Amino acid sequence: MKYTYRLPLLVMLTISTGSAFAQNGGLDPSNPFFTPSNLPLHAPAFDKIKNSDYKPAFEAGMKQRLEEIKKIANNPAAPTFANTLVAMEKTGLLLTRVQETFDVLAGAYTNPELQKVEEEEAPKLAANSDEVYLNTKLFKRIEAIYTKRAQLKLDAESKRLLEVYYQNFVLAGARLSETDKEKLKKLNQEEASLSAKFSSQLLAGTKAGGVLLNDKSELAGLSDAAIEVAARNAKAAGHDRQYLISLQNTTQQPDLQSLTNRATRQKLYESSINRTERGDANDTRATIARMAQIRAQKASLLGFSSYAAWKLQNQMAKTPAAVESFLSKLVPAATAKAKQEAADIQALIDEQKGGFKVEAWDWNFYSEQLRKARFDLDENQIKPYLEIDNVLRNGVFYAANLLYGLTFKERKDLPVYQEDVRVFDVIDKDGSQLAIFYCDYFKRDNKRGGAWMSNMVDQSKLLGTKPVIYNVCNFTKPAPGQPALISASDVRTMFHEFGHALHGMFASQQYPTLSGTATARDFVEFPSQFNEHWAMDPKVIKHYAIHYKTGEPMPQELINKINKAATFNQGYSFTEILAAHNLDLQWHNLPANAPLKDVDQYEAESLHKTGLDLPQVPPRYRSTYFAHIWGNGYAAGYYAYSWTEMLAHDAFAWFQENGGLTRANGQRFRDMVISRGNSQDLATMYRNFRGKDPQIKPLLISRGLIKE
Ligand SMILES: [Zn+2]
Repeated sequence: MKYTYRLPLLVMLTISTGSAFAQNGGLDPSNPFFTPSNLPLHAPAFDKIKNSDYKPAFEAGMKQRLEEIKKIANNPAAPTFANTLVAMEKTGLLLTRVQETFDVLAGAYTNPELQKVEEEEAPKLAANSDEVYLNTKLFKRIEAIYTKRAQLKLDAESKRLLEVYYQNFVLAGARLSETDKEKLKKLNQEEASLSAKFSSQLLAGTKAGGVLLNDKSELAGLSDAAIEVAARNAKAAGHDRQYLISLQNTTQQPDLQSLTNRATRQKLYESSINRTERGDANDTRATIARMAQIRAQKASLLGFSSYAAWKLQNQMAKTPAAVESFLSKLVPAATAKAKQEAADIQALIDEQKGGFKVEAWDWNFYSEQLRKARFDLDENQIKPYLEIDNVLRNGVFYAANLLYGLTFKERKDLPVYQEDVRVFDVIDKDGSQLAIFYCDYFKRDNKRGGAWMSNMVDQSKLLGTKPVIYNVCNFTKPAPGQPALISASDVRTMFHEFGHALHGMFASQQYPTLSGTATARDFVEFPSQFNEHWAMDPKVIKHYAIHYKTGEPMPQELINKINKAATFNQGYSFTEILAAHNLDLQWHNLPANAPLKDVDQYEAESLHKTGLDLPQVPPRYRSTYFAHIWGNGYAAGYYAYSWTEMLAHDAFAWFQENGGLTRANGQRFRDMVISRGNSQDLATMYRNFRGKDPQIKPLLISRGLIKE
């Protein structure tokens, strides 16, 4: 996923001029955020920043931003593009600096002190953003310029900037009466507080939800290495001679594939789906029910029938009806396949005289057996070929070299926030520095679940800044002295997140607001999903899939098996995702006058009415631990993963039609799509590259839901 904590509307930066002290909202000059860091490309000075530096920097940054905005709004000169739009692009440098660095740690290396800052500052940041978007004088200036836009002879990117600003202000409520603006501000602040609360509850609930086991026999089926990790986790949590299986962020848990003890499987599964429904301090039900209600009320204030209707205005899909129609076209093919898969699993259980009906916690255990029987494919056979450093350098980086001519040089001189974090200079085809790339791949208790990319520094020609990008994942860290062998799905995740990274690195915009990944939700997952395709490209996989002991490349026979197995279990995989898409949409399609929902009941109803209530195929995330929509900005936007999957497969089809992995094709894709940020209408951008609108067929074929 692409994770960004700040509001998606604006990425604000400024150039500090004149008296720095006055310009920095009164911040103490000894605070490391007072000036941009002296490190290359202004990379954060993690070695100098203390927990206590964030709060004053946030407060001063917000103060400075408002002063700058007021100055623009109150400018006696007639509004022009330069004195209003360009000026706005230069505001908020300090705030962006502290926010981007804070987000790195809040996501990947948090602690109670930072969580407290997050909870305290979130509502203030929402209020600060409101002060900008609900500033009537400022909006009047933008509106005046927007009205005259045809006569201004703006270049294409500037014209786009003006349109995006105007739309963002209108969507944020700039045309509301003063009374309604106040109401909106209150709702925004409450929503931001609840969102921060949800994130803390989820982190704590997931941690507490780990399953503690007394007897080694209960872990039967797990590898020795996995049992060792469980023993180490238990010990770290203060339970000697016990075993702790910690929870991943999704409903299904990786160990459910191997655990032979059915009671342990059920325990682990139930612990996962109830992690935030235990009636304790980590129960998120009240939090999310109120959030859904607040969002519906906000939409109503802004003149929309639902939050989804409001949110989709500036997306490629445009309306909830378009999303519902897109999803409904996918549901029959996905659920039909899932039902067939359930029948196959039941047949296997019966054949083994299991004497029970397949449940959700059995699915992966038996489907793994079917996979082995049908494809003779064992994860443990594949993993020795997937050593993480090899995958990174000889796979992820190698593909970027073949397609785009990039090279990567590891550097050890830049400070990192945790010892496992690695840093690379990214060198462009002409030898110039394009970006800096950080990666942080291993799971930790103080890291949010999932995987994401974001910027530590944004690219902008106006501000003279180049991108500093990071990827975070949650791969299992090997026991000391053991090689870091990852799964095939981890490899995909690495390519995925690096696709986002490329979108950020190739950014070539004048304005920070339009730069890199600052695009619509239903576009931003396109470059990342597209990049996943290269993981299995014959040239690329031969280069990175090298046995860690023998140095032998992965046998072609094994590669063939992996390819053949790629569409296995796709009925389950796609149905669980469609169910999550649907939950997101239903929570955000409520009218403002809907009463507070009983979360479990509403979830069940929503799945039932869309035909996605298959008991053995639960949603990938249940409502109560659906971080994308309550914590990370994907509200009414989770469908974007499948929408962009359509784009990714369709774009890859273009590559296949035109010679596949070549420098020329990579350059064309860079020039026409991933260097362009949000500087152009996204549907037009796509059509220019592809020669036509995106089709759904390559997606259905690639998931094995229809035949070619
Ligand atoms: Zn992504």
